[in-house]
Amino acid sequence: MSQREFRLYDTLTRSVKPLVLAEPGHLRFYSCGPTVYSYAHIGNFRTFLTADLVVRTAQALGWRVSYVSNITDVGHLTSDDQDGGEDRMEKGLKSKEGEAFVNVWDLADYYADCFKEDWARLNLRRPLVWPRATQHMREQILAVEHLIERGNAYETPTGVYFSVASFPEYGKLSGNKDRENLFQAVRNVVQDDNKREPADFALWKKDDKHLMQWYSPWGWGFPGWHIECSVMAMQYLGETIDLHAGGEDLVFPHHECEVAQSECLTGKPFANHWIHTRFLQVDGAKMSKSLGNFFTVRDLVEGKGVDPLALRYALISVPYGKPLNFTMQTLRDATKNLERYRECERLAILALDRPDGADTIGAELDALFDATLDAMCDDLNTSVALAKALEGTGVVFRESASMGAASARSALRFLARIGDLLGFLVPRGDGPVETAAVAAFEDEPPALVIEMSERRLEAKRVKDFALADRLRLEIEEAGWEVRDTPEGPQFKRRMVPL
Ligand SMILES: [Zn+2]
Repeated sequence: MSQREFRLYDTLTRSVKPLVLAEPGHLRFYSCGPTVYSYAHIGNFRTFLTADLVVRTAQALGWRVSYVSNITDVGHLTSDDQDGGEDRMEKGLKSKEGEAFVNVWDLADYYADCFKEDWARLNLRRPLVWPRATQHMREQILAVEHLIERGNAYETPTGVYFSVASFPEYGKLSGNKDRENLFQAVRNVVQDDNKREPADFALWKKDDKHLMQWYSPWGWGFPGWHIECSVMAMQYLGETIDLHAGGEDLVFPHHECEVAQSECLTGKPFANHWIHTRFLQVDGAKMSKSLGNFFTVRDLVEGKGVDPLALRYALISVPYGKPLNFTMQTLRDATKNLERYRECERLAILALDRPDGADTIGAELDALFDATLDAMCDDLNTSVALAKALEGTGVVFRESASMGAASARSALRFLARIGDLLGFLVPRGDGPVETAAVAAFEDEPPALVIEMSERRLEAKRVKDFALADRLRLEIEEAGWEVRDTPEGPQFKRRMVPL
């Protein structure tokens, strides 16, 4: 196991400190997921990618990772105001896109599926579990009951509220200690004259008209948003978790409220370390549909033909603790860099056929991988990590003309390790690239590719090299690479789809 420290900025102590695991070698990690009332946008995915990089870095250190990311499929309110505040799921159903769904459950299922599709497109690691709020209603109701029993919550004619006064540490995460003013910022708080303090927040809302409702000791209604994460984090990861993540907009009130509820329930610290991802802007402005700079993953991938792995590269190009200004230039740069990696892989695979020779690059590439991992362990410094990794491609290009199979194997091993750590290169199969690449030459391509390959051989035979080159490109565009051998052409799927 690696002796490296994994240092991350901690919102709670406002300092960069090493991640300390309650159980050595095992990270227990909870990250807040999306509310599935529409498609997640690229800003949401920037936050999910931070969590993904935590998982990948921890795994590179040899840690076991128990990673839980929830799906919020019961609506929370869009504003504080009881009359104006609208449930997000209901709002989704009433929107133009909502017309396609028979009910709010159907809508939640659809957007949850799309979310997982986008997750896979950007090559995020799958969590241990994707718990859904609606599937943990019993646990939420029990938690609210316990909070009432312990004197941390009380019932009013409209719901059950957490009493902020019962938890003196309320505000320790966000630094919001000014309770008089707290409620101004609280999104999920309902104006209710029966509340003891304006800052008290809803654990349960009584509402027998709501589209999603459950029967509780307080009648028909639905849970407040914050309670779901407290309950699901503790159910899957234990009473104290090592690390909790989310977008910067969640620090207050969502995470502050999670801390209050959880610590009142158990009397123990809820999370030992908190990280938050800064906002993403597009072309220097906040994303908004009216400005025309609002993008979902599918807008870019399906609508504009953007390579999802280039999108991933672009979204991680700036460290999570700094705002990212996403532009088309960011995306073009990412695409160019990805092409470098793909070319590097291609050259290394070709060199696998040469005599072994001396490994002239292995040590240098290992050192660059170590530097990349060091940067990731330094508060996920992705800009340094990406630069160090890219230096590795320069090493491979420098040696490509002369390198033998031993160096080629080192190059492929480097690419596989970078792909594992940063996620923008996808090797085939589960094994390291070198084995996958060799095995892949036995793959059977579709008839169209075989036919193009035969035309290419014919072009070579009649020395029409321009046509042969064009056909090779077409074969690559179809997702295949061809290699000429004495036994005839061999095919391999391209490691990363175009
Ligand atoms: Zn949450």
